[in-house]
Amino acid sequence: MIVEDAVQLAAVASASGTSTATPRTLWIAETFADTIQGEGPSAGTPALFIRLSGCNLECRPWCDTPYTWDRERFDLTAERTRRSVSDLAAWAAVRPESLVVLTGGEPLMQQLALIPLVRALVDIGKRVEIETNGTYLPKPKLTSLGVHFNVSLKLANAGMPALRTIHLDALAAYVDAPHRAFKFVICDLSDLDEVDAMVARYGLTEVWVMPEGTTPRAIVDGMRALVPAVVQRGYRISPRLHVLMWGDERGR
Ligand code: SF4
Repeated sequence: MIVEDAVQLAAVASASGTSTATPRTLWIAETFADTIQGEGPSAGTPALFIRLSGCNLECRPWCDTPYTWDRERFDLTAERTRRSVSDLAAWAAVRPESLVVLTGGEPLMQQLALIPLVRALVDIGKRVEIETNGTYLPKPKLTSLGVHFNVSLKLANAGMPALRTIHLDALAAYVDAPHRAFKFVICDLSDLDEVDAMVARYGLTEVWVMPEGTTPRAIVDGMRALVPAVVQRGYRISPRLHVLMWGDERGR
């Protein structure tokens, strides 16, 4: 058992009063509907969002969900609630959206409870995408459920050393996963050199780049600037449709 799993099990056991059962509850920051997947291969698809609380990274320069992890700026006790798998699945079941996006924070920090949640969502006919920073090794039980991973690997512009943001065993598993795409946030065109190096070193395919920004103007300008570079490299530009429509409004 890896350390994260042991910690997770202990936390859940302590919260629930049980000791060995598979966890059936998760720390949730927010759930929302009446929106679309804003980024990546499914951009524009009507989607439900379940945002899990907690993250193992700190992308301080531009993280748009610091309320999931930043104890210095947010009261995380007030920002999260414990929800059961059955409660979340029941919420999704009565909604018309066929896609459910599990995001964070870093959802795989709660992987033991995430697996039954994905299974419950698949069982009610939903397609599931997981937004991850790619640092946790996904269990075969999770990948075998047909989930699509949007792996948002971090560059130096996230403000952390590669030793913290790149975990080779996890990255190799995502490269081999049947359904996945890799996303990069670009703050400056020179960031693309770092993307190129990672693509070459780790054999990444299905590569999407998207501009950093919290305003429609910044996103449009950033996407325009990226076009010549992606033409040369064969990458794709991901929009950030939620930012184009709602700026940095929370719950979108
Ligand atoms: S990995 Fe995602 S949620 Fe975590 S700090 Fe970075 S941008 Fe924020």
